[in-house]
Amino acid sequence: MREKRKGMLLVISGPSGVGKGTVSKCLDDEKDIIFSVSCTTRAPRPGEVDGREYHFVSEETFCRMVEEDGFLEHAFVHGNYYGTPRKPVMDALEAGQSVRLEIDPQGALQVMEKMPECVSVFILPPSFAELRRRLEGRNTEKPEDVERRLNNARGEVALKDRYQYLIVNDDLETACAALRSVVSAERHRSSRYYPAVEEE
Ligand code: ADP
Ligand code: 5GP
Repeated sequence: MREKRKGMLLVISGPSGVGKGTVSKCLDDEKDIIFSVSCTTRAPRPGEVDGREYHFVSEETFCRMVEEDGFLEHAFVHGNYYGTPRKPVMDALEAGQSVRLEIDPQGALQVMEKMPECVSVFILPPSFAELRRRLEGRNTEKPEDVERRLNNARGEVALKDRYQYLIVNDDLETACAALRSVVSAERHRSSRYYPAVEEE
């Protein structure tokens, strides 16, 4: 049975430090799902490579891209600008490939509005105390930035019901299995899935 599938736009969101990056890694072996590399004005962390985790750009470049309507969505998040470059996402979807966005809730709501056919997933922490432990344990932000991210998390979690799917990232394997099942079910949506039934 031959099959043809349309590209799926997968939007994974949730508070900073909840484990979006960690959980989404389980989709890295799904070669038909491309990771959308965002632009950001924040400085690279040790080990981050320009063009892999992010395109690290100046505020001037970011503003020019906004003016040129180069972003599918963009937002000011925890003191820096972040945005999803529009063209690579649109080109991939046109070509039938799926695309994964890992973005903050402000950006996720913009994408849900502009592209209602997207699949939206919100990752929740088991508790705010555990979210703090993860943010502190990651050791990538200054203490004041950790506090800012934790304060923002409460407002972000309040938006969880706007998403189609909720996954609590308590046990990592369980959360990954849930994300894989969402992707698998969404691939079988009749609007996306065209199995050709052969005569023989
Ligand atoms: P985000 O991408 O949402 O900002 P990360 O993926 O960077 O979050 O995860 C934040 C920290 O939490 C990392 O140090 C990661 O190893 C840890 N982490 C992620 N998921 C879990 C989990 N299920 N249990 C314990 N620690 C986790
Ligand atoms: P970090 O600085 O920890 O990499 O990311 C901070 C927050 O910005 C995270 O919640 C992350 O998901 C979000 N983010 C990353 N890329 C984008 C993007 O392109 N757009 C938006 N709106 N948020 C993003």
